[in-house]
Amino acid sequence: MGKKEEETVLGIPYTGGHPPPGMVYQPQPPPQPQYYYVAKNPYQSGILPPNAIFDDPKGAPIHQTFYRDTPAPFSCVFCSHSSVTSVRSKPSLAAFIGCMMPAMLGFCFLCPSMDCLWHKYHYCPRCGEKVADFEKSDPCAVMDPPHWVERSFALTS
Ligand SMILES: [Zn+2]
Repeated sequence: MGKKEEETVLGIPYTGGHPPPGMVYQPQPPPQPQYYYVAKNPYQSGILPPNAIFDDPKGAPIHQTFYRDTPAPFSCVFCSHSSVTSVRSKPSLAAFIGCMMPAMLGFCFLCPSMDCLWHKYHYCPRCGEKVADFEKSDPCAVMDPPHWVERSFALTS
């Protein structure tokens, strides 16, 4: 009987990855407004591992690359060259919506100097092959200024 209640508490959608401390054992937990802050932005709690690099790997073996808005350290699968990608961008739906939203008057995301909401395509500077793309497919990105520009990074092994 009491067990059922515990399960209900655990079933609250929670993106932080840690179980709420102490709360599981209280049959009637007090209202916890902090929940909303935690669930609001899972990215902000994301802490990069110590082996993440943002620049030229300088020969270090790359374990995995996360391609975002900035040139990413990578190891080319086509010519096995390692350096940083060259990025080309293309306007995304989010950029169009950002331009049309009354709240965003004064910003126009459609000029190349405001390409933070554009799709990014990563190319190998040596062989010219496309190695990855980072598409801003979520129009809601407009409402999230801290994440307009996300840095690319790679994990070294
Ligand atoms: Zn290449």
